[in-house]
Amino acid sequence: MDSLKEILLSEDVFRDGNILKVDTFLNQNVDIKLMNDIATEFYEYFKNTKITKVVTIESGGIPPAMLLAQKLGCDVLILKKSANFFSDEIYGSTVKSYTKNTEYLLNCAKENINKDDKFLFVDDFLANGQAFLGVQSIIEQGEAELVGVGIIIEKSYQDGAKIIDKCNIEKHSIVKVKEFKDNSIIWG
Ligand code: 5GP
Repeated sequence: MDSLKEILLSEDVFRDGNILKVDTFLNQNVDIKLMNDIATEFYEYFKNTKITKVVTIESGGIPPAMLLAQKLGCDVLILKKSANFFSDEIYGSTVKSYTKNTEYLLNCAKENINKDDKFLFVDDFLANGQAFLGVQSIIEQGEAELVGVGIIIEKSYQDGAKIIDKCNIEKHSIVKVKEFKDNSIIWG
């Protein structure tokens, strides 16, 4: 998507090259038109897949997940990174944060996953695939199924894409970063 590529190349977003700063359009200030265009692309790609719920992780994945779920006519499950105060009955998986280099317990209350749920996971980035593995584990604990993954920005030079491919799960990425080179981005 050209409009997203243009934003990613702007001075404010593209800094040292490895971690993109997306809080001006994605995870703090949200560009709803861009998010809706992204959700439409995901919708077109996955509309013939049987999906009963969209799943995402707080916070970057929430805006596109919401808009996509509205198009699909289903609910969104937001997995939490912080402790769940209202329930001891949780599914959880320890995930290593790519940006903070710390670990957190990704979790949700058991009552929010049904055995017959077919989930589409939507996230802002795919890097080493740790968030994906955490989501997959939680869905498995709930005996439900993960049927697809929608990523806004895939860093295809890292391991996440290979991990998802090995699981034979359908993935669609809006843009793929193949390499950061000479203060620019090689798309792939
Ligand atoms: P992974 O779990 O695949 O290693 O990394 C994906 C997660 O790390 C995403 O949920 C996202 O929050 C975060 N992440 C990865 N790369 C970036 C980046 O370049 N910028 C920001 N803001 N977050 C990132």
